[in-house]
Amino acid sequence: MIGFLSLGSNLGDRKGNLERALNLLEDSPTLHPSLKIIKVSGFYETEPWGGVEQEPFYNLAVKIESTLEPLSLLRYCQRIEHLLGRERKLHWGPRVIDIDILTYHNYRINSQELTLPHPYMERREFVLAPLREIEPELVLPSGRPIQEVKGEGKVKKISFA
Ligand code: ATP
Ligand code: CA
Ligand code: CA
Repeated sequence: MIGFLSLGSNLGDRKGNLERALNLLEDSPTLHPSLKIIKVSGFYETEPWGGVEQEPFYNLAVKIESTLEPLSLLRYCQRIEHLLGRERKLHWGPRVIDIDILTYHNYRINSQELTLPHPYMERREFVLAPLREIEPELVLPSGRPIQEVKGEGKVKKISFA
């Protein structure tokens, strides 16, 4: 099954945190990943979203292929957040790493633990910009082509010279 994840960090070594998360997502055999990374976007520096005063984020998007059930995929992502030292404090506040599932196969889920597709994905430019880069032909859950949808918030692609 194909899915798209959105990763973000705005505490500590933002680039390093994202790279470590990518490595854990794909590599660690002890975490039993029946998960493969197919594409990774570049890094984007983005304006915080949700009204909490905090440092800018680095964000990226990942296309995955996996056989995990949706809740197992969520738990797997949460385990990686935990391994990287994520602490649950302020809602929409600063974090070492955030891993959100945007879409997964054609699942539509509305449970307390998991909402698919992710409810805010089409409003957030920090989600849409990297996603547009790796999947320019994507049709969003609303039915609109990603090329025609612009989200809120400033984003800037980073080039590491
Ligand atoms: P947002 O989801 O608006 O980006 P957030 O990422 O800051 O907010 P978190 O504190 O990381 O929110 O997560 C809160 C809870 O959201 C998680 O414990 C998880 O159970 C739930 N959740 C629901 N849908 C999803 C999803 N599609 N991907 C990741 N987590 C989800
Ligand atoms: Ca999030
Ligand atoms: Ca999250």
